[in-house]
Amino acid sequence: MVKDQIKSDRDSALAVSIHDVSPLTRQGVEMMLSDLRGVGIAATSLLVVPDHHHQGEAGRDAGFMDWLRTCEGQGHEIVLHGFYHLREARGGLVQRLVTEHYTAGEGEFYDLAYEEARRRLARGREMLAAFDVTGFIAPAWLLGAEAESAVRDEGFAYTTRLGGVLDLRSGERTASQSLVYSVRSAWRRRMSLAWNSYLAAKLRANPLARLGLHPPDWRHEKIKAHALRLAREFSARRVIRYRDWVGA
Ligand SMILES: [Zn+2]
Repeated sequence: MVKDQIKSDRDSALAVSIHDVSPLTRQGVEMMLSDLRGVGIAATSLLVVPDHHHQGEAGRDAGFMDWLRTCEGQGHEIVLHGFYHLREARGGLVQRLVTEHYTAGEGEFYDLAYEEARRRLARGREMLAAFDVTGFIAPAWLLGAEAESAVRDEGFAYTTRLGGVLDLRSGERTASQSLVYSVRSAWRRRMSLAWNSYLAAKLRANPLARLGLHPPDWRHEKIKAHALRLAREFSARRVIRYRDWVGA
């Protein structure tokens, strides 16, 4: 079947990802998974940060690793998501503005040099060696050219950006803008609700719909309710993990 010929909801897919999974966010993520199960989403891609903000080294937290194993056993996918999830401030004024405003300082792999990217990817892989990890997704989806080469050379099968999914083995791209909320301020939350309603309507024609969630989304009732409503609507599709989409 050609991927862009949708015959029914079951011919199209939904991928839900939860970003920023770490010992620091585990409790919130458990709530999210429970709520998602309630609307028919039993499998997600869990984006794990190995040492979240230098404060949450996953590998040293046996309880967290056990919980992650349980999640994987239930059908969730473990995806590597940066290493520290922090972009060190560097460079001139424009660079600093990008760091501080556009990504709120989270774009760790945005302009990382090849060798450093490779080093962090290898350390992350090692920390998650107990899991079947085939994907890497950069914090804030910001993956620079050198870092992308490092991800490919490190043997990851796929990555995603805000605008789509990239199979790193074949080079095949699937265009599909991810639904994602920005909750850092009241106006951003209002804009997010309007934008995601608009985008969700557009995505009905796309064979792949993507919903990217972050733990802070669940601190805002309207955002949470909106996300769960969209998840329920799209769950008439095949609910997949990203690895299923690329067959990895
Ligand atoms: Zn993230």
